[in-house]
Amino acid sequence: MYISTENYTRICEEVGKRNAQLVAVSKTKPVEAIQELYGLGHRDFGENYVQELVEKQARLPQDIRWHFIGHLQTNKVKYIAPFVHLVHGIDSLKLLKEVNKQGQKFNRTIPVLLQVHIAREETKFGFDERELEQVLSNEPALQQMANIQISGLMGMASFSDDTALVRQEFKNLKRIFDRCHQTGVAHTDFRILSMGMSGDYHIALEEGSTMVRIGSLLFGSR
Ligand SMILES: *Cc1c(COP(=O)(O)O)cnc(C)c1O
Repeated sequence: MYISTENYTRICEEVGKRNAQLVAVSKTKPVEAIQELYGLGHRDFGENYVQELVEKQARLPQDIRWHFIGHLQTNKVKYIAPFVHLVHGIDSLKLLKEVNKQGQKFNRTIPVLLQVHIAREETKFGFDERELEQVLSNEPALQQMANIQISGLMGMASFSDDTALVRQEFKNLKRIFDRCHQTGVAHTDFRILSMGMSGDYHIALEEGSTMVRIGSLLFGSR
C-alpha cells in the first residue's frame, strides 16, 4: 500500500463538490505507487522533474494524463512535448515560444498554464501581474503560436501557517484569473485555475481553484 485510500476518497469528494479536478503529485514516488492510484481509476498525475517524468511515462499506461508542474528549462521541453497533457509552470515568453516550437515539431497543440507569482517568498517562480499583462497584450506574438493553448493560470501561495495570508494570495490570483477571462486574445481559453496543495487546498477550493495539485496527503511525505 503506497497510498492513503481514505485521503484519496475524501479529497475526490471535496474536489468533486466544487467541480474541480485533482492532480496527484507523484514526484519522487515509485511507479508502483502510481499504479495503485491508477487502479482506483485515477488518470491525472503531476511530476516536477523532466527525466523522472520521461522514465515513468515510458513504463506506465499510455492513457495517463501527465501534468508537468515543476520549473521547466527551455532545453528540456523537447523531451516531454510529445506526450505532456498540461504544462503548469510557464514563467517566461521564451519558454512559451519553445513549447510552441516543440508542439509544432510533434504536430500537436500543447495546453499550458501561465504561472503567477503570488507568494511573499522571492524564490517562487512566475510572472507578476504587470508582466502577465504584457504577455497577454502581445497579440502579434500570441497570434503566431498556433501550437500552444493558454488554458489558464497556476500559482503557489506562501508556505505559511498564516491562513489569512494564504487566502489573500489565492484571492488575488482568482482576481487576476477573472480579469484574464476578458482579454480574449488568440490561443487563450482561460478555464483552469491551478492552485492548492496538500497544506492549503481547502482554502484554494474556497477561493475558486479549479485544479488542486496534491502529493503528500495521498502518497505520504517525501
Ligand atoms: C510538490 C508540489 C505539489 C504537491 O505538494 P504537496 O504539499 O506534497 O501536496 C504541488 N505543486 C507543486 C508545484 C509542487 O512542486
